[in-house]
Amino acid sequence: TTTEQHRLADEDATLALGADLARRLKPGACVYLRGDLGAGKTTLVRGLLRALGHQGAVKSPTYTLVEPYETGGVPIYHFDLYRLGDPEELEMIGIRDYFDGRALCLLEWPERGRGMIPAPDLTVTLAVEGRGRHANLEWAHGQH
Ligand code: ADP
Ligand code: MG
Repeated sequence: TTTEQHRLADEDATLALGADLARRLKPGACVYLRGDLGAGKTTLVRGLLRALGHQGAVKSPTYTLVEPYETGGVPIYHFDLYRLGDPEELEMIGIRDYFDGRALCLLEWPERGRGMIPAPDLTVTLAVEGRGRHANLEWAHGQH
């Protein structure tokens, strides 16, 4: 694995990191977004989707578990597993179909889907640091 650290002074810096990841991630990548509520996970996804050309709103799919997007012919699935009670519930939404090797998958609260989701190509861990945020990026072997 390769790790990198980023200090994100404000929301714009989180959006910019998301845009940077949009350029660096390979198609079909699986990204885990870790960190407490309010750490900036959804903001990062917003920056990434905007950089890929998505112009509409980006809200966390807390109740629906997953929100699908499509930009430039590439499907992107944004998961938020915060409210998931049992990983088996993922079976019911047909979780396997989302990880088809073609779509970019972004998962908030991936630890709640343990056993049901693929290993990550990139793990981003966000934490509050002063008025801003700190991001730790861990790239799996072969992804960087
Ligand atoms: P999460 O999805 O992790 O719960 P959000 O992305 O919804 O968190 O962000 C929560 C709040 O944090 C938002 O108000 C957002 O503007 C703010 N935020 C995001 N990045 C930063 C940053 N680098 N510095 C300060 N505030 C930030
Ligand atoms: Mg969120």
